[in-house]
Amino acid sequence: MIHAERSFWESELYDRTYDLIIVGAGLTGQSIAHFYKKAHPDERVMVIDRGFFPIGASTRNAGFACFGSVTEHMADMKIEEESRIIERIRRRFNGLQLLRETLGDENIGYREPGAYEVFTDKKVYTEALEHLDICNRWLNEAAGADQVYQATEHNGFPAISIEHEGCLHPGKMMRTLYEKNLKLGVEFRWQTQVKKIEETQAVLILENGIELKAERLAIATNSFTSKLLSSVDIKPGRGFVFVTKPIKDLKWNGTYHYDAGYYYFRGAGEDRLLLGGARSLDIDVETTTDFGTNEKIKNHLISFADDVLKLPKGWEIEIEWSGIMGFTPTKSPILKRISDKTALVAGLSGMGVALGMQLGKEASELVVE
Ligand SMILES: Cc1cc2nc3c(=O)[nH]c(=O)nc-3n(C[C@H](O)[C@H](O)[C@H](O)COP(=O)(O)OP(=O)(O)OC[C@H]3O[C@@H](n4cnc5c(N)ncnc54)[C@H](O)[C@@H]3O)c2cc1C
Repeated sequence: MIHAERSFWESELYDRTYDLIIVGAGLTGQSIAHFYKKAHPDERVMVIDRGFFPIGASTRNAGFACFGSVTEHMADMKIEEESRIIERIRRRFNGLQLLRETLGDENIGYREPGAYEVFTDKKVYTEALEHLDICNRWLNEAAGADQVYQATEHNGFPAISIEHEGCLHPGKMMRTLYEKNLKLGVEFRWQTQVKKIEETQAVLILENGIELKAERLAIATNSFTSKLLSSVDIKPGRGFVFVTKPIKDLKWNGTYHYDAGYYYFRGAGEDRLLLGGARSLDIDVETTTDFGTNEKIKNHLISFADDVLKLPKGWEIEIEWSGIMGFTPTKSPILKRISDKTALVAGLSGMGVALGMQLGKEASELVVE
């Protein structure tokens, strides 16, 4: 660490109280910055992240622009009341519209190649079909969309088609938002780890000892939040994903869900398949903020690709990675003020592509209320 007293010039220009500092440069944090700066163009807004680029989930996810499969909603019914589930679907649906309008479909590689939940177990399928009506009603109530879920068959599997679901390129999404924020005049500090937050005073103490003051703070650190605010109940959940090398005549070019959303796969362009999930196989080990590959899960997904998806012999993984999600006990995200000067938005529970911008916009308003 470099120890040096402040120069006159540093004190005047650099060492100033910001109007708003946001911790976390993922989709949520950068969306707070975006909408706040648009509403308050003359104010100084800074986003801080510990990574060289954002290294949470926003650049490491699977790029599903989705609002839930039928078995995912069925699992949610067991832990949350109906009105909260409908509210979350509304936020996801609206969030996707907002994301597309704000960034532009072409800039984020948005497309709708056809979406399905596929089944291998007859009993689970029958149970899911029994829930079609309620799920369609929820989508109608939340988003005004009709008959979103319909029984069908896909690639020889019993399936439920999902209208309006799409996919995007998370890297392009984050790059576009970053460029828009730079144009608006948002400042960024990369590789800057926050060690401590004094939320009442709106003061941040950085790992390098520097203290930053702001009029207001917003904390958007998702799965890493409990490290900074120990009373916040968000559990990390590591997700594993791989993308294959091009596969000739790949038949899985849409977006797919399996087993309550625990497995997901999609065409990733150029005849490549992206496959991820299966965290449920080793849930305790995967409750971690450490990046890395769990060989048990990786081998299981390889078998799933061979035995269930029947990828042609000789297919290969091109690249694999992990990312960390943040789960609240009910999967509903946290959006609240934790002091007069500080707002917290975190715990997007694996749904942040859809929720991140919407929650960021709501947080940009909450922080000034
Ligand atoms: C493998 C995987 C697949 C997923 N697939 C999908 C999907 O297909 N569709 C979907 O909707 N969602 C998906 N998600 C979830 C989605 O990516 C997240 O919900 C969303 O990106 C969360 O965004 P965020 O900005 O809130 O958090 P993050 O993107 O995690 O950002 C938090 C940021 O805070 C920074 N930070 C943390 N602590 C500190 C600190 N002390 N000091 C400074 N900076 C700090 C981190 O570096 C990070 O950049 C997936 C997630 C994973 C991991």
